[in-house]
Amino acid sequence: MTKDPELKPDFAKPDTIVLASANKHKVKELREILAGIGIRLLSTEDFPGLREVIEDADTLQGNAWKKADYLYQTTGLPALADDTGLEVDFLNGAPGVYSARYAGEQASYEDNVNKLLRELGSTDKRSARFRTVIAYKSESGTFFFNGLCDGVITKTPIGDNGFGYDPVFMPDGYQLTFAELMAEVKNNISHRGRAVQKFMQFLEQMGKA
Ligand code: IMP
Repeated sequence: MTKDPELKPDFAKPDTIVLASANKHKVKELREILAGIGIRLLSTEDFPGLREVIEDADTLQGNAWKKADYLYQTTGLPALADDTGLEVDFLNGAPGVYSARYAGEQASYEDNVNKLLRELGSTDKRSARFRTVIAYKSESGTFFFNGLCDGVITKTPIGDNGFGYDPVFMPDGYQLTFAELMAEVKNNISHRGRAVQKFMQFLEQMGKA
């Protein structure tokens, strides 16, 4: 296929994007989604020597921007970063931007889940949502994409798939937790999946620019 000579290279759909994460679950999830539109996803593991970006912003957008900006500056490749938080209504939106370290700096997924279940106790007010903000930085600029997934926090962990709070998050419309759902189903309805779908629509528009 010949390229439109007027098409600016930076507005063409990229064939490679680098993701600001070494989280194997996340890289796998996103790689599967982006493979569907022919984009190869590299991760920070492919660039030894990068420093760790401290996620100390007080918003998801701030952290996502910090990571995408650093990666773009250091690799020169279009860079994608996401930050996700679980917002629980009964806890006034906590753990939110602090979801990864809810039970402390070195907390495991299990520690965080246990703390969440302790904080909720036996209340029936268990509505919550995952929120993802994706930042994409390329020569064309920086762009943000949001994705939400509403659901409830179960009273005990159920299921072995996924990661993080998946065993205690039951998305609205399902009787199964994220940790019981197949990866493809979760990818379709999840906060990150929805943010990525918006990002993909944006790439398609870019390709037509
Ligand atoms: P991150 O910004 O993607 O690193 O997410 C922050 C924290 O939110 C992670 O450490 C997980 O505990 C949790 N988290 C993010 N995405 C998911 C998900 O899809 N399922 C369950 N937990 C998640």
